[in-house]
Amino acid sequence: MGKSFDIGIDEVRAAGVASNVRPESRPLDRGAPANGKSFFIETFGCQMNVHDAEKVAGVFLARGYRPAESIAEADVLLYNTCSIREKAAQKVFSRLGAWRGIADGKIIGVIGCLAQQEGEEIFERAPWVSLVCGSASYRKLPQLVDELESGGRRVMGLALDTNETFETELTRRDNPLRAYITIIEGCDYACSYCVVPHTRGRERSRASDAVLTEARRLAEAGYTEIQLLGQTVNSYRDPSPSKLKFAEILREVAAIRGIRRVRFTTSHPNDFSREIVDAIDTTPGLCDHIHLPVQSGSTRILQAMRRTYSREEYLEKISWIRAARRPISVTSDIIVGFPGESESDFEETLSLLDEVGYDGVYAFTYSPRPNTTAKSMPDAIPEEEKSKRLAILQDRQRQIQIARNEKLVGATFEIMVDTHHAARSQWAGRTSSNLIVNFGSPHSNLLGEYVQARITRAAPFSLVGEQVG
Ligand code: SF4
Repeated sequence: MGKSFDIGIDEVRAAGVASNVRPESRPLDRGAPANGKSFFIETFGCQMNVHDAEKVAGVFLARGYRPAESIAEADVLLYNTCSIREKAAQKVFSRLGAWRGIADGKIIGVIGCLAQQEGEEIFERAPWVSLVCGSASYRKLPQLVDELESGGRRVMGLALDTNETFETELTRRDNPLRAYITIIEGCDYACSYCVVPHTRGRERSRASDAVLTEARRLAEAGYTEIQLLGQTVNSYRDPSPSKLKFAEILREVAAIRGIRRVRFTTSHPNDFSREIVDAIDTTPGLCDHIHLPVQSGSTRILQAMRRTYSREEYLEKISWIRAARRPISVTSDIIVGFPGESESDFEETLSLLDEVGYDGVYAFTYSPRPNTTAKSMPDAIPEEEKSKRLAILQDRQRQIQIARNEKLVGATFEIMVDTHHAARSQWAGRTSSNLIVNFGSPHSNLLGEYVQARITRAAPFSLVGEQVG
Protein backbone atom coordinates (compact mmCIF):
# COMPACT_ATOMS: atom_id res chain seq x y z
CA MET A 1 0.00 0.00 0.00
CA GLY A 2 -2.70 4.06 2.21
CA LYS A 3 -2.08 6.75 3.88
CA SER A 4 -3.30 7.48 0.44
CA PHE A 5 -2.46 4.29 -1.24
CA ASP A 6 -3.45 0.80 -0.51
CA ILE A 7 -0.38 -1.21 0.17
CA GLY A 8 0.22 -2.12 3.77
CA ILE A 9 -0.76 1.01 5.54
CA ASP A 10 -0.09 -0.79 8.77
CA GLU A 11 3.49 -1.14 7.75
CA VAL A 12 3.95 2.59 7.33
CA ARG A 13 4.06 2.61 11.08
CA ALA A 14 7.21 0.56 10.93
CA ALA A 15 8.90 3.33 8.99
CA GLY A 16 12.51 4.10 9.53
CA VAL A 17 14.13 0.79 8.80
CA ALA A 18 17.87 0.74 8.48
CA SER A 19 18.39 -2.33 6.34
CA ASN A 20 21.97 -3.11 7.08
CA VAL A 21 22.35 -3.80 10.71
CA ARG A 22 20.03 -6.64 11.47
CA PRO A 23 22.03 -9.44 12.98
CA GLU A 24 19.24 -11.88 12.32
CA SER A 25 19.32 -11.19 8.59
CA ARG A 26 18.88 -14.46 6.74
CA PRO A 27 21.27 -14.55 3.80
CA LEU A 28 19.44 -16.54 1.18
CA ASP A 29 21.99 -15.98 -1.53
CA ARG A 30 25.67 -15.39 -1.78
CA GLY A 31 26.96 -12.24 -3.41
CA ALA A 32 29.88 -11.78 -5.79
CA PRO A 33 33.46 -11.78 -4.48
CA ALA A 34 33.97 -8.81 -2.16
CA ASN A 35 34.97 -5.56 -3.82
CA GLY A 36 35.97 -3.93 -0.52
CA LYS A 37 33.08 -1.49 -0.58
CA SER A 38 29.98 -1.30 1.56
CA PHE A 39 26.44 0.05 1.34
CA PHE A 40 23.77 1.23 3.73
CA ILE A 41 20.06 1.70 3.00
CA GLU A 42 17.78 3.76 5.19
CA THR A 43 14.18 2.89 4.43
CA PHE A 44 10.89 4.66 5.09
CA GLY A 45 7.43 3.68 4.03
CA CYS A 46 5.17 0.76 3.39
CA GLN A 47 5.90 -2.94 3.20
CA MET A 48 6.54 -2.63 -0.53
CA ASN A 49 9.33 -0.16 0.23
CA VAL A 50 10.79 -2.38 2.90
CA HIS A 51 10.86 -5.30 0.47
CA ASP A 52 12.24 -3.09 -2.32
CA ALA A 53 15.11 -2.27 0.04
CA GLU A 54 15.80 -6.01 0.38
CA LYS A 55 15.97 -6.29 -3.40
CA VAL A 56 18.09 -3.16 -3.83
CA ALA A 57 20.45 -4.61 -1.21
CA GLY A 58 20.57 -7.72 -3.40
CA VAL A 59 21.75 -5.62 -6.36
CA PHE A 60 24.71 -4.39 -4.31
CA LEU A 61 25.49 -7.79 -2.78
CA ALA A 62 25.56 -9.25 -6.28
CA ARG A 63 28.25 -6.73 -7.17
CA GLY A 64 30.48 -7.61 -4.23
CA TYR A 65 29.47 -4.87 -1.83
CA ARG A 66 28.97 -5.78 1.81
CA PRO A 67 26.41 -4.29 4.19
CA ALA A 68 27.97 -1.46 6.22
CA GLU A 69 27.63 -1.47 9.98
CA SER A 70 26.86 2.23 10.03
CA ILE A 71 26.07 5.21 7.84
CA ALA A 72 29.50 6.70 8.57
CA GLU A 73 31.41 3.71 7.25
CA ALA A 74 29.30 3.11 4.09
CA ASP A 75 30.73 3.83 0.63
CA VAL A 76 27.21 3.90 -0.81
CA LEU A 77 24.45 5.51 1.22
CA LEU A 78 20.89 5.17 -0.06
CA TYR A 79 17.79 6.88 1.26
CA ASN A 80 14.72 4.82 0.34
CA THR A 81 11.92 7.37 0.49
CA CYS A 82 8.16 7.44 0.89
CA SER A 83 5.88 10.23 -0.31
CA ILE A 84 2.89 9.31 1.76
CA ARG A 85 3.48 11.38 4.82
CA GLU A 86 2.73 15.05 4.78
CA LYS A 87 5.73 17.26 4.11
CA ALA A 88 7.57 14.20 2.82
CA ALA A 89 9.84 16.26 0.57
CA GLN A 90 10.78 18.59 3.40
CA LYS A 91 11.73 15.62 5.57
CA VAL A 92 13.82 14.04 2.82
CA PHE A 93 15.77 17.23 2.14
CA SER A 94 16.31 17.72 5.83
CA ARG A 95 17.74 14.18 6.10
CA LEU A 96 19.91 14.74 3.04
CA GLY A 97 21.14 17.94 4.68
CA ALA A 98 22.22 15.91 7.69
CA TRP A 99 24.24 13.65 5.37
CA ARG A 100 26.01 16.52 3.67
CA GLY A 101 28.85 16.57 6.21
CA ILE A 102 29.68 12.91 5.60
CA ALA A 103 29.10 12.90 1.83
CA ASP A 104 32.75 13.26 0.82
CA GLY A 105 34.00 10.14 -0.93
CA LYS A 106 30.60 8.44 -0.75
CA ILE A 107 27.94 7.76 -3.33
CA ILE A 108 24.72 9.23 -1.94
CA GLY A 109 21.51 8.07 -3.57
CA VAL A 110 17.81 8.80 -3.21
CA ILE A 111 15.45 6.02 -4.26
CA GLY A 112 11.74 5.29 -3.87
CA CYS A 113 8.57 7.32 -4.31
CA LEU A 114 9.95 10.72 -3.35
CA ALA A 115 12.83 10.24 -5.80
CA GLN A 116 10.25 9.73 -8.55
CA GLN A 117 8.24 12.72 -7.40
CA GLU A 118 11.08 15.22 -7.02
CA GLY A 119 13.37 13.91 -9.79
CA GLU A 120 16.13 16.26 -10.91
CA GLU A 121 15.16 18.79 -8.29
CA ILE A 122 17.01 16.57 -5.81
CA PHE A 123 20.33 17.25 -7.57
CA GLU A 124 19.55 20.98 -7.50
CA ARG A 125 18.74 21.10 -3.82
CA ALA A 126 21.27 18.52 -2.64
CA PRO A 127 24.22 18.57 -5.06
CA TRP A 128 26.08 15.94 -3.00
CA VAL A 129 23.52 13.37 -4.25
CA SER A 130 24.69 11.39 -7.27
CA LEU A 131 21.93 8.81 -7.78
CA VAL A 132 18.19 9.40 -8.07
CA CYS A 133 16.04 6.41 -8.95
CA GLY A 134 12.26 6.03 -8.72
CA SER A 135 10.73 2.71 -7.77
CA ALA A 136 9.43 2.06 -11.30
CA SER A 137 13.04 2.15 -12.58
CA TYR A 138 14.75 -0.18 -10.13
CA ARG A 139 15.40 -2.71 -12.85
CA LYS A 140 17.88 -0.13 -14.20
CA LEU A 141 19.78 0.08 -10.93
CA PRO A 142 22.64 -2.26 -11.95
CA GLN A 143 23.22 -0.10 -15.02
CA LEU A 144 23.09 3.11 -12.97
CA VAL A 145 25.56 1.68 -10.46
CA ASP A 146 27.83 0.70 -13.40
CA GLU A 147 27.82 4.31 -14.56
CA LEU A 148 28.69 5.56 -11.09
CA GLU A 149 31.46 3.00 -10.68
CA SER A 150 32.97 4.14 -13.96
CA GLY A 151 33.14 7.71 -12.74
CA GLY A 152 29.62 8.96 -13.56
CA ARG A 153 28.81 12.07 -11.56
CA ARG A 154 25.02 12.07 -11.64
CA VAL A 155 22.77 9.25 -12.72
CA MET A 156 19.02 9.13 -12.77
CA GLY A 157 16.30 6.54 -13.41
CA LEU A 158 12.82 8.01 -13.57
CA ALA A 159 11.10 6.26 -16.47
CA LEU A 160 7.53 5.15 -15.76
CA ASP A 161 6.93 3.49 -19.11
CA THR A 162 8.25 0.08 -18.18
CA ASN A 163 6.45 -3.21 -18.65
CA GLU A 164 8.97 -5.00 -16.51
CA THR A 165 9.05 -5.87 -12.86
CA PHE A 166 12.07 -5.49 -10.58
CA GLU A 167 13.78 -8.88 -10.78
CA THR A 168 17.10 -9.28 -9.00
CA GLU A 169 19.76 -11.97 -8.98
CA LEU A 170 19.77 -11.79 -5.20
CA THR A 171 17.39 -10.57 -2.55
CA ARG A 172 18.70 -9.85 0.90
CA ARG A 173 16.11 -11.08 3.43
CA ASP A 174 16.06 -8.90 6.52
CA ASN A 175 13.12 -10.51 8.27
CA PRO A 176 14.16 -13.97 9.41
CA LEU A 177 10.62 -15.21 9.97
CA ARG A 178 8.43 -13.70 7.29
CA ALA A 179 9.44 -13.48 3.64
CA TYR A 180 7.94 -11.05 1.16
CA ILE A 181 7.38 -11.65 -2.52
CA THR A 182 6.20 -8.84 -4.77
CA ILE A 183 3.87 -10.33 -7.37
CA ILE A 184 2.58 -7.11 -8.93
CA GLU A 185 4.08 -3.63 -9.13
CA GLY A 186 2.50 -0.27 -9.96
CA CYS A 187 -1.19 0.51 -10.15
CA ASP A 188 -3.70 1.10 -12.95
CA TYR A 189 -6.30 2.70 -10.72
CA ALA A 190 -6.44 6.45 -10.43
CA CYS A 191 -7.71 7.26 -6.96
CA SER A 192 -7.89 11.01 -6.81
CA TYR A 193 -5.82 11.34 -3.62
CA CYS A 194 -3.04 8.90 -4.45
CA VAL A 195 0.49 9.39 -5.76
CA VAL A 196 1.24 5.74 -6.44
CA PRO A 197 0.35 5.67 -10.16
CA HIS A 198 2.70 8.63 -10.52
CA THR A 199 5.53 7.19 -8.43
CA ARG A 200 5.32 3.48 -9.21
CA GLY A 201 3.96 3.46 -12.74
CA ARG A 202 1.53 1.17 -14.54
CA GLU A 203 0.50 -2.17 -13.19
CA ARG A 204 2.75 -5.10 -14.16
CA SER A 205 2.57 -8.63 -12.80
CA ARG A 206 5.34 -11.17 -12.45
CA ALA A 207 5.09 -14.51 -14.21
CA SER A 208 3.63 -17.14 -11.90
CA ASP A 209 6.51 -19.56 -12.39
CA ALA A 210 8.98 -16.88 -11.19
CA VAL A 211 6.81 -16.26 -8.13
CA LEU A 212 6.49 -19.97 -7.35
CA THR A 213 10.22 -20.60 -7.86
CA GLU A 214 11.00 -17.82 -5.40
CA ALA A 215 8.47 -19.20 -2.90
CA ARG A 216 10.00 -22.69 -3.16
CA ARG A 217 13.49 -21.31 -2.57
CA LEU A 218 12.21 -19.45 0.49
CA ALA A 219 10.63 -22.63 1.85
CA GLU A 220 13.90 -24.50 1.28
CA ALA A 221 15.70 -21.72 3.19
CA GLY A 222 13.44 -22.38 6.15
CA TYR A 223 10.75 -19.74 5.82
CA THR A 224 7.30 -20.91 6.86
CA GLU A 225 5.39 -17.68 6.27
CA ILE A 226 5.17 -15.82 3.00
CA GLN A 227 3.45 -12.54 2.29
CA LEU A 228 2.56 -11.73 -1.29
CA LEU A 229 2.76 -8.02 -2.01
CA GLY A 230 1.32 -5.55 -4.47
CA GLN A 231 -0.30 -2.13 -4.32
CA THR A 232 -3.40 -3.92 -5.54
CA VAL A 233 -2.23 -7.48 -5.06
CA ASN A 234 -5.49 -9.06 -6.16
CA SER A 235 -5.38 -7.28 -9.53
CA TYR A 236 -2.66 -9.84 -10.36
CA ARG A 237 -2.73 -10.99 -14.00
CA ASP A 238 -0.29 -13.77 -14.76
CA PRO A 239 1.58 -12.77 -17.94
CA SER A 240 2.84 -16.34 -18.52
CA PRO A 241 1.00 -19.04 -20.52
CA SER A 242 -0.15 -20.62 -17.22
CA LYS A 243 -2.47 -17.62 -16.77
CA LEU A 244 -2.95 -18.35 -13.07
CA LYS A 245 -5.65 -16.28 -11.44
CA PHE A 246 -4.87 -14.56 -8.16
CA ALA A 247 -6.84 -17.14 -6.15
CA GLU A 248 -4.93 -19.91 -7.94
CA ILE A 249 -1.51 -18.48 -7.19
CA LEU A 250 -2.56 -18.18 -3.55
CA ARG A 251 -3.42 -21.88 -3.50
CA GLU A 252 -0.19 -22.82 -5.29
CA VAL A 253 2.03 -20.92 -2.86
CA ALA A 254 0.17 -22.39 0.12
CA ALA A 255 0.69 -25.89 -1.30
CA ILE A 256 4.50 -25.59 -1.24
CA ARG A 257 6.02 -28.03 1.20
CA GLY A 258 7.20 -26.21 4.34
CA ILE A 259 4.98 -23.14 3.90
CA ARG A 260 2.50 -22.92 6.75
CA ARG A 261 1.10 -19.44 6.31
CA VAL A 262 0.43 -17.28 3.28
CA ARG A 263 -0.70 -13.69 3.59
CA PHE A 264 -1.34 -11.08 0.93
CA THR A 265 -1.66 -7.34 0.92
CA THR A 266 -3.27 -5.16 -0.24
CA SER A 267 -6.52 -6.05 -1.94
CA HIS A 268 -8.57 -3.61 -3.97
CA PRO A 269 -12.32 -4.09 -3.38
CA ASN A 270 -13.02 -3.82 -7.10
CA ASP A 271 -10.93 -6.92 -7.88
CA PHE A 272 -12.00 -8.82 -4.81
CA SER A 273 -13.72 -12.03 -5.95
CA ARG A 274 -15.59 -14.89 -4.30
CA GLU A 275 -12.81 -17.15 -5.53
CA ILE A 276 -10.44 -15.55 -3.02
CA VAL A 277 -12.83 -16.34 -0.17
CA ASP A 278 -13.27 -19.90 -1.49
CA ALA A 279 -9.50 -20.31 -1.65
CA ILE A 280 -9.11 -19.21 1.98
CA ASP A 281 -12.02 -21.38 3.04
CA THR A 282 -10.55 -24.52 1.52
CA THR A 283 -6.79 -23.98 1.91
CA PRO A 284 -5.58 -24.19 5.51
CA GLY A 285 -2.27 -22.48 4.68
CA LEU A 286 -4.00 -19.30 3.55
CA CYS A 287 -4.33 -17.03 6.56
CA ASP A 288 -7.81 -16.06 7.62
CA HIS A 289 -7.29 -12.36 7.28
CA ILE A 290 -8.17 -9.93 4.51
CA HIS A 291 -7.11 -6.31 4.42
CA LEU A 292 -9.73 -4.59 2.28
CA PRO A 293 -9.35 -0.80 2.28
CA VAL A 294 -12.67 0.98 2.01
CA GLN A 295 -11.45 4.59 2.53
CA SER A 296 -14.98 5.99 3.12
CA GLY A 297 -18.46 4.73 3.97
CA SER A 298 -20.13 7.30 1.73
CA THR A 299 -20.73 6.45 -1.91
CA ARG A 300 -20.63 10.14 -2.76
CA ILE A 301 -17.12 10.47 -1.29
CA LEU A 302 -16.04 7.17 -2.83
CA GLN A 303 -16.97 8.61 -6.20
CA ALA A 304 -14.97 11.77 -5.50
CA MET A 305 -12.07 9.53 -4.49
CA ARG A 306 -12.54 7.55 -7.73
CA ARG A 307 -12.55 4.29 -5.84
CA THR A 308 -14.72 2.56 -8.50
CA TYR A 309 -17.15 0.92 -6.05
CA SER A 310 -20.09 2.06 -3.96
CA ARG A 311 -20.74 1.44 -0.27
CA GLU A 312 -23.26 -1.24 -1.23
CA GLU A 313 -20.84 -3.01 -3.58
CA TYR A 314 -18.18 -2.99 -0.89
CA LEU A 315 -20.62 -4.40 1.65
CA GLU A 316 -21.57 -7.15 -0.75
CA LYS A 317 -17.94 -8.29 -0.81
CA ILE A 318 -17.88 -8.21 2.98
CA SER A 319 -20.97 -10.45 2.97
CA TRP A 320 -19.04 -13.05 0.93
CA ILE A 321 -16.29 -13.00 3.56
CA ARG A 322 -18.79 -13.32 6.41
CA ALA A 323 -20.42 -16.28 4.66
CA ALA A 324 -17.14 -18.25 4.70
CA ARG A 325 -17.08 -21.47 6.69
CA ARG A 326 -14.17 -20.33 8.82
CA PRO A 327 -14.07 -16.90 10.46
CA ILE A 328 -11.96 -14.47 8.46
CA SER A 329 -10.80 -11.25 10.07
CA VAL A 330 -11.16 -8.05 8.08
CA THR A 331 -9.14 -4.86 8.42
CA SER A 332 -9.32 -1.66 6.45
CA ASP A 333 -7.90 1.78 5.69
CA ILE A 334 -9.99 4.92 6.06
CA ILE A 335 -9.33 8.51 5.07
CA VAL A 336 -11.14 11.08 7.18
CA GLY A 337 -11.88 14.62 6.03
CA PHE A 338 -11.63 14.17 2.27
CA PRO A 339 -12.55 17.45 0.48
CA GLY A 340 -16.31 17.92 0.59
CA GLU A 341 -16.90 15.26 3.27
CA SER A 342 -20.05 16.42 5.05
CA GLU A 343 -21.18 15.48 8.54
CA SER A 344 -23.57 12.98 7.03
CA ASP A 345 -20.83 11.45 4.82
CA PHE A 346 -18.75 11.03 7.94
CA GLU A 347 -21.72 9.47 9.77
CA GLU A 348 -21.93 6.95 6.95
CA THR A 349 -18.31 5.98 7.54
CA LEU A 350 -19.03 5.51 11.24
CA SER A 351 -22.06 3.37 10.47
CA LEU A 352 -19.95 1.29 8.08
CA LEU A 353 -17.57 0.52 10.95
CA ASP A 354 -20.52 -0.86 12.91
CA GLU A 355 -21.92 -2.74 9.96
CA VAL A 356 -18.66 -4.46 9.00
CA GLY A 357 -17.21 -4.98 12.48
CA TYR A 358 -13.57 -4.58 11.47
CA ASP A 359 -10.81 -6.23 13.46
CA GLY A 360 -8.57 -3.26 12.80
CA VAL A 361 -8.65 0.04 10.94
CA TYR A 362 -5.79 2.29 9.89
CA ALA A 363 -7.35 5.73 9.77
CA PHE A 364 -5.69 8.94 8.66
CA THR A 365 -6.79 12.48 8.04
CA TYR A 366 -6.74 13.47 4.39
CA SER A 367 -3.79 15.56 3.32
CA PRO A 368 -3.20 16.73 -0.25
CA ARG A 369 -0.39 15.18 -2.26
CA PRO A 370 1.42 16.60 -5.28
CA ASN A 371 0.32 15.32 -8.70
CA THR A 372 -3.12 14.25 -7.50
CA THR A 373 -6.48 15.57 -8.67
CA ALA A 374 -7.83 15.78 -5.13
CA LYS A 375 -5.21 18.41 -4.34
CA SER A 376 -7.17 21.05 -6.25
CA MET A 377 -10.64 19.96 -5.11
CA PRO A 378 -12.78 22.60 -3.41
CA ASP A 379 -14.34 22.37 0.04
CA ALA A 380 -11.27 21.42 2.00
CA ILE A 381 -12.15 20.36 5.53
CA PRO A 382 -10.40 22.43 8.23
CA GLU A 383 -7.58 20.59 10.00
CA GLU A 384 -9.27 20.96 13.37
CA GLU A 385 -12.44 19.31 12.04
CA LYS A 386 -10.46 16.50 10.41
CA SER A 387 -8.67 15.78 13.66
CA LYS A 388 -11.96 15.83 15.55
CA ARG A 389 -13.51 13.33 13.13
CA LEU A 390 -10.44 11.11 13.28
CA ALA A 391 -10.62 10.97 17.07
CA ILE A 392 -14.34 10.10 16.93
CA LEU A 393 -13.71 7.37 14.38
CA GLN A 394 -10.78 5.90 16.29
CA ASP A 395 -12.81 5.85 19.48
CA ARG A 396 -15.73 4.09 17.75
CA GLN A 397 -13.38 1.51 16.23
CA ARG A 398 -11.66 0.97 19.56
CA GLN A 399 -15.03 0.06 21.13
CA ILE A 400 -15.70 -2.35 18.28
CA GLN A 401 -12.34 -4.03 18.74
CA ILE A 402 -12.79 -4.32 22.51
CA ALA A 403 -16.14 -6.06 21.96
CA ARG A 404 -14.76 -8.36 19.26
CA ASN A 405 -11.59 -9.26 21.16
CA GLU A 406 -13.47 -9.95 24.41
CA LYS A 407 -15.38 -12.68 22.62
CA LEU A 408 -12.06 -14.46 22.02
CA VAL A 409 -11.23 -14.89 25.73
CA GLY A 410 -11.08 -18.62 26.46
CA ALA A 411 -10.38 -19.59 22.85
CA THR A 412 -7.12 -21.24 21.80
CA PHE A 413 -5.13 -20.11 18.75
CA GLU A 414 -2.03 -21.15 16.92
CA ILE A 415 0.55 -18.37 17.23
CA MET A 416 3.61 -17.87 15.10
CA VAL A 417 6.07 -16.40 17.59
CA ASP A 418 7.92 -13.38 16.24
CA THR A 419 8.91 -11.29 19.28
CA HIS A 420 10.52 -11.77 22.68
CA HIS A 421 10.01 -9.07 25.32
CA ALA A 422 12.93 -9.97 27.57
CA ALA A 423 12.16 -7.30 30.20
CA ARG A 424 8.63 -8.68 30.64
CA SER A 425 9.64 -12.32 30.14
CA GLN A 426 6.94 -12.47 27.51
CA TRP A 427 6.66 -13.76 23.98
CA ALA A 428 4.43 -12.38 21.27
CA GLY A 429 3.24 -13.54 17.91
CA ARG A 430 0.34 -13.48 15.50
CA THR A 431 -2.64 -15.66 14.95
CA SER A 432 -3.52 -16.65 11.41
CA SER A 433 -6.10 -13.84 11.59
CA ASN A 434 -3.20 -11.43 12.28
CA LEU A 435 -4.13 -10.65 15.88
CA ILE A 436 -1.19 -10.01 18.20
CA VAL A 437 -1.05 -12.29 21.24
CA ASN A 438 1.35 -11.71 24.16
CA PHE A 439 1.91 -14.76 26.29
CA GLY A 440 4.14 -16.25 28.93
CA SER A 441 5.96 -19.52 28.42
CA PRO A 442 8.49 -21.55 30.35
CA HIS A 443 10.40 -22.18 27.12
CA SER A 444 13.54 -20.22 26.34
CA ASN A 445 13.64 -19.98 22.56
CA LEU A 446 10.36 -19.76 20.73
CA LEU A 447 11.17 -17.34 17.92
CA GLY A 448 9.79 -18.72 14.68
CA GLU A 449 7.94 -21.52 16.48
CA TYR A 450 4.22 -22.24 16.14
CA VAL A 451 2.62 -22.66 19.57
CA GLN A 452 -0.89 -22.95 20.93
CA ALA A 453 -2.03 -20.20 23.29
CA ARG A 454 -5.27 -19.79 25.20
CA ILE A 455 -6.54 -16.23 25.42
CA THR A 456 -6.93 -14.99 28.98
CA ARG A 457 -7.43 -11.27 28.48
CA ALA A 458 -8.47 -8.92 25.70
CA ALA A 459 -7.32 -5.40 24.95
CA PRO A 460 -8.39 -3.29 21.97
CA PHE A 461 -5.23 -3.84 19.95
CA SER A 462 -3.86 -7.13 21.23
CA LEU A 463 -4.63 -10.18 23.33
CA VAL A 464 -2.97 -11.77 26.31
CA GLY A 465 -2.72 -15.52 26.64
CA GLU A 466 -0.86 -18.47 28.04
CA GLN A 467 0.86 -21.23 26.18
CA VAL A 468 -0.96 -24.54 26.27
CA GLY A 469 0.13 -28.00 25.25
S1 SF4 B 1 -4.37 4.63 -7.04
FE1 SF4 B 1 -3.84 2.47 -6.77
S2 SF4 B 1 -2.38 2.37 -5.08
FE2 SF4 B 1 -3.39 4.39 -5.03
S3 SF4 B 1 -5.08 4.12 -3.53
FE3 SF4 B 1 -5.90 3.78 -5.63
S4 SF4 B 1 -5.76 1.57 -5.90
FE4 SF4 B 1 -4.42 2.06 -4.18
